[in-house]
Amino acid sequence: IMCKAMNRSFISVIAGGFGIAAPKGDEVDHGEHREVDAETVADMLAGASTVVITPGYGMAVAQAQYPVAELTQKLRDRGVDVRFGIHPVAGRLPGHMNVLLAEAKVPYDIVLEMDEVNDDLASTDVVLVIGANDTVNPAAAEDPSSPIAGMPVLKVWEAENVVVFKRSMASGYAGVQNPLFFRDNAQMLFGDAKERVDDILRAL
Ligand code: NDP
Repeated sequence: IMCKAMNRSFISVIAGGFGIAAPKGDEVDHGEHREVDAETVADMLAGASTVVITPGYGMAVAQAQYPVAELTQKLRDRGVDVRFGIHPVAGRLPGHMNVLLAEAKVPYDIVLEMDEVNDDLASTDVVLVIGANDTVNPAAAEDPSSPIAGMPVLKVWEAENVVVFKRSMASGYAGVQNPLFFRDNAQMLFGDAKERVDDILRAL
């Protein structure tokens, strides 16, 4: 039954089966979100041992894969364990993120599938969510009334610190608000993802 429900949500997300009624979750007051600047994120990364990057559609829009690859290299050179967690429907095409990361020459062996990293996120120092939204939404796992309930997601909120790169508080493809943005361990780094990653590179 669990599996059936998961498949149904998964398919309806892919097919864009949302927006008939205002999702219930959107009426919930999640409180305040916190903002962070690129310099602070650079410090956070410099002090981290383990980093997981979870990219989404916004990385493609911003063409941020190039500075993301550079950041990955820079951190690895300093001995930081950097890996990528790729959700099966991140972006707008199957394999979208893998193609972009390969194009930017990110080594294949650190680009892992969602199921390969999900259990490690709780012991990860910093997760960088680069232009992803629905694929990291805790409501899918925790709120049975959410339109995306049951959709498998990257459990980024379990990490010590989460930095979310996006331009605004706007929702993603599914049109559902994301309670991740209001978690105590999450901070928003607003702006174009490529520009912000470039800022971090300058500050590192
Ligand atoms: P989402 O579409 O959920 O979210 C992407 C986020 O990127 C947006 O919230 C947006 O926020 C942000 N963004 C856009 N442009 C930029 C930019 N220049 N810089 C920084 N951030 C930016 O993406 P996900 O990848 O997490 O999820 C994919 C969604 O697409 C899922 O719902 C999936 O089901 C669906 N889908 C996937 C398909 C596939 O085969 N992969 C096919 C069809 C649909 P803001 O506007 O605030 O910047």
